[in-house]
Amino acid sequence: MSTGNRLDVMSHKNIQSGNTWRKVLLGLGHFRSVLAITLFSILSSAVITFGIMTLLWWEGLDLLLKSLQVAVIVPAVVAPLASSFVVQLLFELEDLQNQLLEMVNYDPLTKVHSRRYIIDCLEIESTIALRSNEPMSLLMIDADNFKSINDRYGHATGDIVLLEIAQKCKSTLRPYDVIARFGGEEFVVMLPNANLLEAYDVAERIRENVAGQTIESTDGTLISVTISIGLSLFTPPDLRCMNLLSHADRGLYKAKHNGRNQCAIALDSEQ
Ligand code: GH3
Ligand code: MG
Ligand code: MG
Repeated sequence: MSTGNRLDVMSHKNIQSGNTWRKVLLGLGHFRSVLAITLFSILSSAVITFGIMTLLWWEGLDLLLKSLQVAVIVPAVVAPLASSFVVQLLFELEDLQNQLLEMVNYDPLTKVHSRRYIIDCLEIESTIALRSNEPMSLLMIDADNFKSINDRYGHATGDIVLLEIAQKCKSTLRPYDVIARFGGEEFVVMLPNANLLEAYDVAERIRENVAGQTIESTDGTLISVTISIGLSLFTPPDLRCMNLLSHADRGLYKAKHNGRNQCAIALDSEQ
């Protein structure tokens, strides 16, 4: 479900430690990891035994050869068993971490990113925008009269509608834009390197995409849904992600106030 942008990589880093040996073993796979550990154990056991027998306990070639045999046989038996168990645990840990990342970074209902993820993204992307002197826009999207959809068609249909809205929004975006479910029937879209005109164009396309198609309820009824969108743009150096969010929220309030199913930008004089 990854969007494949640089922010995925950064978020992944938050949870996974960059242990090189771990990465090597995961890359090798289970069988080759066990083989590599076994060979390494045999080799190091033989080298250490050879060192001890020749430098400290030298009692002739015969004993040296016998000691080397033991030094090879013991790790050849023990290492595959022990390393197989450890490598298995390593792979299970990797799976669990991936599941944890999925849970933290994605909303299970709508399959778009989570609130936590987009807040992390906003902080990272605003720093990048600041450094590279690029604009950044944000959209705050809210389903119109969503409570009445739940009341009329049931909560299960409400869930379908949320999923459809999220997917319709996502299909309108560029690969490096990020959409997240911000709360109940609210979504936030981050548009890196987009000025207000471009952001407005995207917002209008999203709005039209949602309003222009019906969604099928659980009993087959076709439902029309609309959304309202608040926009915000900050150009460096006045770029703080919390400003972006509150400004977009004011835009959303304005869109609702003006009759819903529209996009709006709050002017500073309207604070
Ligand atoms: P407005 O146009 O002003 O936004 O009106 P609204 O009805 O959309 O807003 P309101 O805040 O009154 O209602 C939001 C509703 O969204 C209420 C809540 O039950 C519903 N909701 C929140 N999360 C979920 C969810 O995960 N699934 C479903 N089915 N409904 C949800
Ligand atoms: Mg709403
Ligand atoms: Mg709302």
